[in-house]
Amino acid sequence: MTTVALKDVTKVFPDGTVAVDTINLDVNDGEFMVLLGPSGCGKSTVLRMVAGLEDPTTGAVMLDGEVANDLPPRDRRIAMVFQDFALYPHMTVGDNIGFPLRLSGVQPNSRGERIQDVASALGIGELLDRKPSQLSGGQRQRVAMGRAIVRRPGLFLMDEPLSNLDSGLRAELRAEISGLTRELGVTTLYVTHDQAEALTMADRVAIMRRGVLQDVGTPTQVYGRPATLYVAAFLGSPRMNLLEASVYVHLDRYVALNLGEQTLYLPWHDIRSRAVSHYHGERIVVGMRAEALTPVAPDAPGHVLRGRLRYLEHHGHESLAFLDIGATAIVVDEMGTPAENLVPGQRGLRRFGQVMQRIAGRAGETP
Ligand code: ATP
Repeated sequence: MTTVALKDVTKVFPDGTVAVDTINLDVNDGEFMVLLGPSGCGKSTVLRMVAGLEDPTTGAVMLDGEVANDLPPRDRRIAMVFQDFALYPHMTVGDNIGFPLRLSGVQPNSRGERIQDVASALGIGELLDRKPSQLSGGQRQRVAMGRAIVRRPGLFLMDEPLSNLDSGLRAELRAEISGLTRELGVTTLYVTHDQAEALTMADRVAIMRRGVLQDVGTPTQVYGRPATLYVAAFLGSPRMNLLEASVYVHLDRYVALNLGEQTLYLPWHDIRSRAVSHYHGERIVVGMRAEALTPVAPDAPGHVLRGRLRYLEHHGHESLAFLDIGATAIVVDEMGTPAENLVPGQRGLRRFGQVMQRIAGRAGETP
């Protein structure tokens, strides 16, 4: 069993770069935690500190509840898999997988069985006699995984292990890696800048920006209830619509969101009214996901937003409509609505129902 806890961990490099800034994060036993963020936000530095390859400037890295700052990497029961996994070219697949066992003095006869078990679990049991040069990229990555798990580590650290592979293979290995780690019950800390990877693989996602942890939660939580404007804008494709609005509460009747050129009225009994009602008199940012917006007929009754259609984008399984509602462009998921009915540049304004999923932050906070 392995748990990881970072307590107020900061890393300042000698040149003054603050790569990680006062991070607190708990990874539970057996959990698949993904560190997600744009390039340079400090994800790898966090991973390297957990591995013991980098010392925190301040704060504590804890493994199984004990401060591990001074524990050498070899005593941490961790296995690492990187993007540039290097296999030994002159060794067979079997010898590559078994290499860590040889290093730790496991006898050849018990090595063979362990290697076979691991290789079978990874679907490369038939390839043990091949050399790395005779393998595809995906097979090589499986060998690297095999080499990582063969010593039954307590903790996997993976840094963009799929980023050199083509997209089809990435999707396939995504499921395999998360399936395998869960089967083995090994705690995993996985670094990526790919949000699809993060949201599909993680038990929980930790989102970083410029060394600072922005949000931690299950994929559903961080997507549906982002903690900061940055996370709201970062997660999801198309981006969440973020509109500035002034809030006016008309007690027990409705909440008015003044968006500039138009006002959106939310009935009081609408659950979304409650979410904004305590911002009376304030300027806030309202977040709306495209999939929460439904196009309606121009004469539809109810509380709707009006916008001018700028263009449509077809993606096969869905179409996206890009609209101006006053000053702001907004994207609407067109799934289920015949896109041919929408004509770019048409006169007259469209109306939209089902508005406002949640408040992503106060106005003025930069996403
Ligand atoms: P990527 O996804 O591109 O790998 P990352 O989120 O993993 O990025 P890190 O590699 O952790 O980011 O780097 C975080 C910041 O620290 C970056 O600004 C990087 O330039 C800086 N950095 C990393 N290593 C050093 C170092 N040895 N000396 C100075 N700055 C460093």
